[in-house]
Amino acid sequence: MGERHEHAGWARHARGVADSVGRRSGGARTAIVDELAALGCCASPQELHDRLRAEGRSVGIASVYRVLDELSGLGLVQRVDLGDGVARFEPIELTGEHHHHLVCVGCGAIEPFDDPELERAIDRAAGRTAFAVDGHDVVLRGHCSDCAA
Ligand SMILES: [Zn+2]
Ligand SMILES: [Zn+2]
Repeated sequence: MGERHEHAGWARHARGVADSVGRRSGGARTAIVDELAALGCCASPQELHDRLRAEGRSVGIASVYRVLDELSGLGLVQRVDLGDGVARFEPIELTGEHHHHLVCVGCGAIEPFDDPELERAIDRAAGRTAFAVDGHDVVLRGHCSDCAA
């Protein structure tokens, strides 16, 4: 997974926003925010559910969906579509910092990557269109080093 910076700032912000709107299910929400912050990349509801259970912080799958829906409605997480029909969610950083994804078509491994040069190229391309572009997705598909071997 490479180095990922700590998403502590996001976690603090997410807790603050969610508390201020007074939503219930605080325990489940805290667990999910912590998990997403620690992951530093996207996860499906099922993956979050499994990881939480492995850590002994059991949160029912229905609660995982409900909390993700709530965080998404508050603009704290975004849905990531990697083309395999699985909905994944990842933190939206306040700073606009983001990464993109490499997907292995062999084993399904997902790795984040970022590239300032790519961001500049996308900004330039967007600037040449008549759209006020405010987001983009980039997915690179191929084989991870294990599957390519
Ligand atoms: Zn990611
Ligand atoms: Zn980008």
